[in-house]
Amino acid sequence: MVAAVTDLRLPSRLSAPEPGWTAQADVVVVGSGIAGLTTALEARKAGRVLLVTKTFLDEGSTVWAQGGIAAALDPEDSPEQHYSDTLVAGVGICAEDAVRVLVTEGPQRVRELMALGANFERTLEGEIALTREGGHGRDRIAHAGGDATGREISRALIEALHAVQEDPTIEVVEHALVIDVLTDRARRACGVSLHVIGEGQRDGVGAALGRAVVLATGGFGQVYASTTNPPVSTGDGIGAALRAGAEVADLEFVQFHPTVMWLGRSAHGQQPLISEAVRGEGALLRDVEGRRFMVERHPLAELAPRDVVAKGVITAMLETGADHVWLDARHLGADFLQRRFPTIVARCREFGFDPATQLVPVAPAQHYASGGIRTDLHGRSSLPGLYACGEVSCTGVHGANRLASNSLLEGLVFGHRIAVDLADALPPQAEPVDRPGTPRLLDPDARLFIQGAMTAGAGVVRTEASLASASMCLADLAAERQADVPSTEAWETSNLHDVAATLVRHAALRTETRGGHWREDYPDRDDSRWRGRLVSTVSDDGTVQTRFEELR
Ligand SMILES: Cc1cc2nc3c(=O)[nH]c(=O)nc-3n(C[C@H](O)[C@H](O)[C@H](O)COP(=O)(O)OP(=O)(O)OC[C@H]3O[C@@H](n4cnc5c(N)ncnc54)[C@H](O)[C@@H]3O)c2cc1C
Repeated sequence: MVAAVTDLRLPSRLSAPEPGWTAQADVVVVGSGIAGLTTALEARKAGRVLLVTKTFLDEGSTVWAQGGIAAALDPEDSPEQHYSDTLVAGVGICAEDAVRVLVTEGPQRVRELMALGANFERTLEGEIALTREGGHGRDRIAHAGGDATGREISRALIEALHAVQEDPTIEVVEHALVIDVLTDRARRACGVSLHVIGEGQRDGVGAALGRAVVLATGGFGQVYASTTNPPVSTGDGIGAALRAGAEVADLEFVQFHPTVMWLGRSAHGQQPLISEAVRGEGALLRDVEGRRFMVERHPLAELAPRDVVAKGVITAMLETGADHVWLDARHLGADFLQRRFPTIVARCREFGFDPATQLVPVAPAQHYASGGIRTDLHGRSSLPGLYACGEVSCTGVHGANRLASNSLLEGLVFGHRIAVDLADALPPQAEPVDRPGTPRLLDPDARLFIQGAMTAGAGVVRTEASLASASMCLADLAAERQADVPSTEAWETSNLHDVAATLVRHAALRTETRGGHWREDYPDRDDSRWRGRLVSTVSDDGTVQTRFEELR
């Protein structure tokens, strides 16, 4: 057990009015990104599925994914090499059994996705076209629509869903914000409370009951002031899982993407990403004085793992006193850029930059949560009946840092595994019971303060002092900024707070630098003390308990 840095108590449950309606299914899936859609489509074999999602079916990080999906599809490549690259990126703390599952089952799942209708780009010979991204020793990234891979995957999965929706085993409810996980007397997940903006019977706060619940709610980028994640990424699944008593792990490992378009100091929320694939095709990073600073920092230069490039960019910014560095893609040529990266070129032009003729200003921004709800190899969380899949989960495949393009693959592989597990074992439906704890809710105005505190105190570079200051700010917000009226924004802000407070606690405890966790006051990796993961749970009174589990 690790000594507490500070005592931490979260609001133990969110204020939700009594449910006005109840829906019933065998499996309740929350979220409609690659993880939720894959799970829902396949879980039909287990029984009736209810898929609920916060806004529209195609909202979430999945549609924004540009670079592609990684799998050893080339005959020259092998799962073994993908495995080694993933372990290197994860800096010594990947769950090796989970990585093995990912890389060995990945190629088959990608082929199934293609059979379902996802159109990945092909070579002139008709083979799947594969490119390379940072940290990969081989060309292994399948991509679609130039740089619109996520949109194509989402389209294919949603079309498949519509094709079976006539089928009474699957029902979709959009504009449904899940608030909390409901548990029965035996402390087993048996549904969710949710707020639906709808019409007729399903409007307002309700309960969706199921024999199992799958959280596939994506990441928590909105915890930070600047992120590549869309507005729906508010960490709701992690907040709900924590309050239900499930374990969360590795929250301190946050990936900051090194090349996010820099739009000025006042820019806020989701920012345009310039995919790693652009560097994969030869674009260079230069500081504001024109120097290629990555060459001296890593043998792979611009294609080093993301944390190394993000640190290189931050260091170059500090050395030159600039707010950004430059991405130089001019030598790739207008025709190639337009053909290979149509979305990125359009986004750059939207903001006044032509990458074929101009340098583009970039800086790191929050991009990916390597940690989340801890699961086993079948997606089961520590709370019976509760599964987690995709970015909200912590299967352990990413360790301290995700290898580029492994996240779409994780949603696909583990979504399939969850469906298989559900088909094997669904318990009878149980009745939810009221959980103890004082209901509390944060005022939506607190969101900007949370984002400011997290960016300043728990961003790319962290110190004991910066984390203590973030922690203090979060505690003050919880004490002083309570909302009187429940609303979507208040529920989301409360989740952002719970995720942020737990993340800061992990980051303060981990006195070393590893992957997506950079402690300036502890600049070295310390395997003698920290080769393992921090795991947190919340008890009924809201107290957070954090323990360290060493890897064997
Ligand atoms: C700009 C960008 C580029 C990326 N590029 C790549 C790439 O090239 N390759 C790669 O592998 N990864 C990439 N990633 C990461 C990858 O896209 C995500 O990790 C992955 O798509 C996550 O899928 P998911 O299904 O877990 O979550 P998401 O796709 O984020 O879906 C989450 C779903 O949950 C819903 N939801 C959230 N909260 C609630 C709630 N309270 N109630 C109900 N529903 C809720 C959301 O509305 C959404 O439908 C990128 C990410 C971004 C942001």
